[in-house]
Amino acid sequence: MQPTTRDHCQTLDTHDPLAAFREEFHLPPEVIYLNGNSLGALPRATPHRVADLIEREWGQGLAHSWTAAGWWDKPRTLGARLAPLIGAEDTEVVVTDNVTTNLFKTLIAALRCNPRPTILTEQGNFSTDLYITSGAAEIAGVHEQRIDVDSPHLPTALAHADASVLLLSHVDYRTATLRDLPAITRLAHEHNTLVIWDLSHSVGALPIHLNAASADFAVGCTYKYLNAGPGTCAFTYVARRHHIHAAQPIQGWHGHADPFSFDADYTPAPGASRFLSGSHPLIADAALEASLDLWDHVDLTLLRAKSLTLTGIFLDIITAGGLTSATPHAPEHRGSHVAVQVPDTASGPAIIDALAARGIHAGFRAPNLLRFGFAPLYLRHTDAYDAATTLVDIIATETWRHHATTHNAPMS
Ligand SMILES: *Cc1c(COP(=O)(O)O)cnc(C)c1O
Repeated sequence: MQPTTRDHCQTLDTHDPLAAFREEFHLPPEVIYLNGNSLGALPRATPHRVADLIEREWGQGLAHSWTAAGWWDKPRTLGARLAPLIGAEDTEVVVTDNVTTNLFKTLIAALRCNPRPTILTEQGNFSTDLYITSGAAEIAGVHEQRIDVDSPHLPTALAHADASVLLLSHVDYRTATLRDLPAITRLAHEHNTLVIWDLSHSVGALPIHLNAASADFAVGCTYKYLNAGPGTCAFTYVARRHHIHAAQPIQGWHGHADPFSFDADYTPAPGASRFLSGSHPLIADAALEASLDLWDHVDLTLLRAKSLTLTGIFLDIITAGGLTSATPHAPEHRGSHVAVQVPDTASGPAIIDALAARGIHAGFRAPNLLRFGFAPLYLRHTDAYDAATTLVDIIATETWRHHATTHNAPMS
C-alpha cells in the first residue's frame, strides 16, 4: 500500500464536498481540534442566536414568547428536527434533560412494558450508563447483568438472561467500536428483550436508521458531534409502537396530555412527549437550534465517507509508525474517533500535553487510551495527517517526557 502523503491529503481537502462547513465554525487559529467527540466546536451562528433569544424573545417578548416564540413546544420541535439524523419520525423524538436522566426514564419504561427478571448492559459501557442501570435495577427489584456485547456468545447470553431490556452504546466511548444496530436489535427481539441504544458517540458521526431497524428506545447527547454546546439537552427516541403503553417514572406537567388543565391526575401526552417532565433550559435550546441549522444541510452519507477517510488516514500513519490502536481497522466496525494505546498509564496525560503544546487537542481515557475525535464537519484531511505524524514523532522521540503529568482534561 502507498503511504499517505500530505500532498494527497491536500488534494482530498480541495475536492471535499463538506469543506465549506468548516467556515461555519469558530475554531482557534493554529489548533487542530480532535476533542469534538467530547465537546463539539462552536458554530459561528450560535452566539448571535443565543443573544437573540435572550434580548428579543425574553427581553422584549417576555411571557408571550412561550407561544409567540414557540418556547413551550421546543422539546418537540427540536426533536422533530433531530429525527432525520437518527432515522425516526417527528413525533418519536423529544429533546429533554441529559443522557443520564433519559436513560433512567427509558429503562423504567422498558421494564414496565416488558416485565422480566433481568436488566442487561455491557461490561465496558460508559460510567453513567452503568450507574443508572444499577440504580434502575435496584428500584425495580430486578437483577442487573453486565455482558460482553462484542462476544460471539451474545446470542447465548441473551437466551439465558431472560432480560427485559438491554442497554448498550452504539459506538463504544473508549475504543470507537461500532455495533451492528439492526442485527443486535433483531437478536434481542428474538429473545423477547427490548433494546435502548445510547447514541452519544454516533449521532452526528454517521447515519442512523432506528425505525428501519425496528428499534425500541434510544438516547443521545447533543454536545458532542452535534456541536450544541456544553450541557445542552439530550434527546430521547421512543418508537411509535411503544407510545401507547410506555410509562416513564418522572411524570411531570410537561409530559401531561393537557398541561394547562392543571388536572389533579396524570394523563400522559401522545407521542414521545410523554417522556418530558418539567421546565426546559430554553437558552441552551437556542444553541442547539443554531447547530441544527447546519445539520439540516448535511448529507450523512458524505459525512460518514469523510469520517472513515479521516480515521483511515490517521490509523494508517500511526500503525506504520509502530503504534497500536484499540479501534477496529475494518471501516464497518468503527465510529468517528481513534483510540491509541500508550505503553504505560503514566505517559498518557504527558503525551496529551505534548500534543497540546504543538496545537493538537486530544483526550486521554484511563488506563491507557489516547482518543482522537474526527468531526467531519470542521476537520481537514491534512489535520488527520498532521496529528498522526506529530503523535508518532512525540512518541518516537520521547519528547512527552518533558511534559508534566499532573492534570487531565475532564469530560466524556
Ligand atoms: C457523553 C455520554 C453520556 C453523557 O451523559 P450526560 O448525562 O448527558 O452527562 C452518557 N453516555 C454516554 C455513552 C456518553 O458518551
